[in-house]
Amino acid sequence: MANQWRGVLREYADRLNISDATPIITLGEGGTPLIPAPALSARTGARVYVKFEGMNPTGSFKDRGMTMAISKAVEHGAKAVICASTGNTSASAAAYAAHAGITAAVLVPEGKIAMGKLSQAIAHNAELLQVQGNFDDCLDIARDLANNYPVHLVNSVNPDRIEGQKTAAFEVVEVLGDAPDIHIVPVGNAGNYTAYSRGYSEDLAAGRTTKMPRMFGFQAAGSAPLVLGKVVKNPETIASAIRIGNPASWELALAAREATDGYFGAISDEKILEAHRILSAEVGIFVEPASAISVAGLLERSAAGQIPKDSIVVLTVTGHGLKDPQWALRTADGSDITPTVVPVDTAEIAGVLGLSKA
Ligand SMILES: *Cc1c(COP(=O)(O)O)cnc(C)c1O
Repeated sequence: MANQWRGVLREYADRLNISDATPIITLGEGGTPLIPAPALSARTGARVYVKFEGMNPTGSFKDRGMTMAISKAVEHGAKAVICASTGNTSASAAAYAAHAGITAAVLVPEGKIAMGKLSQAIAHNAELLQVQGNFDDCLDIARDLANNYPVHLVNSVNPDRIEGQKTAAFEVVEVLGDAPDIHIVPVGNAGNYTAYSRGYSEDLAAGRTTKMPRMFGFQAAGSAPLVLGKVVKNPETIASAIRIGNPASWELALAAREATDGYFGAISDEKILEAHRILSAEVGIFVEPASAISVAGLLERSAAGQIPKDSIVVLTVTGHGLKDPQWALRTADGSDITPTVVPVDTAEIAGVLGLSKA
């Protein structure tokens, strides 16, 4: 295994709270590509890179925190874990629990999670229950169960999750040789926003970087408690991974914004889908809608004159497009896209493609 990326716990063992007693439950998460995005650089005048977290084993950044949370749970003797999820946490918890040989129970809001994520959790043999409420209700119940029954909570309120997730910042620094000027992430529970801020601040303290990036976080307009400064009772957005009205890491995120001279903004669903199309059609990266909000946020801040020319900007795109692919099959005005059907006829197909013989 010497020439293979070993997962974030082994790669960053000296920077995480683990010991020889910690079993390493890994699927090889982390080590995701930081991809230059010339099309976004051209649109903004900044030097834009995309950290593609859809390349993790279950297709989202949640795996970074889950390897840590499940490893620590097993270290402490847990036989079962529980989480509330908008989808990706359940997929990740289910996969890592299966790998560890323990049980994962997951609570998801009924009818509100993307098909790909539901399929993953079921494939990995989770006890999946659809709760007749929203994500925030699911998290309340998961906490209740963990407090009163022998089951270990692996939501991002579990500090091991944020610890594991901070490794993404370490990877960015290793590639760029310093911190970026600005780092943009989608925000739901704000655990990832908090994790990047922590990773960068540890790198700065250790002398691996010369500065802190400004941390920009974006929420969907119908689900933007951090922007509004109050809980949103019935959060709504097509970006299901960030449909959260009462972020679990609210206080930590406010502190991180303060410490990094950061920013929280809200983006309409329409702009999220527009950014989704730009990222897939111009950069070649396919993400789920929540992830595209990083691109939408960059374009919004650029239009507002808040992205300095030639500054180095990293966008985290959090989850893979194959999890929730339906959004690619509709146009900006909402009509369905149906591929053209053609007969088995070279000349006719050439005509449809607009080709003429050389
Ligand atoms: C979980 C998730 C988010 C939100 O991350 P938080 O840490 O809850 O802010 C964003 N995008 C995707 C794809 C996710 O799975």
